[in-house]
Amino acid sequence: MVLALIAAPGGCTRPGCDAPATLTAVHHITDWKDGGPTDITNEDLACDACHALVHEGTGGWKTRVSPAGAEYPGRTERIPPPHIDPERTPRVNHRHHLGDLLSAALAHYRARRDTEMREHRRRWLREPAGDAAGGEVP
Ligand SMILES: [Zn+2]
Repeated sequence: MVLALIAAPGGCTRPGCDAPATLTAVHHITDWKDGGPTDITNEDLACDACHALVHEGTGGWKTRVSPAGAEYPGRTERIPPPHIDPERTPRVNHRHHLGDLLSAALAHYRARRDTEMREHRRRWLREPAGDAAGGEVP
């Protein structure tokens, strides 16, 4: 079970934390005292500092499994406390998922390239400014 946990999240699951699996402990997504089972479907990894942030009190983070149909189904979502995000938008950690990081970098690169190509065409080829679909922007 521990190997599956290391393979799936790859490290601490709090968004932005880069603690590798070797510096984490197993965390119950639904707390054991609330009926959460001790099995692979209800466990993830958290480093000590991030594990201490998950609690029911003021300022505590909540954890849950991302539902089917979500952007990252089956991954652990962490819900920040209101003082960090008043809308409490669930987040996942991308630090240990190379595919996520590569996709974000490629999307950023492509958006920047498209913007620069439009500007190049407008400036040097004297084409009218247009949006990505080829429509003209007023
Ligand atoms: Zn952490």
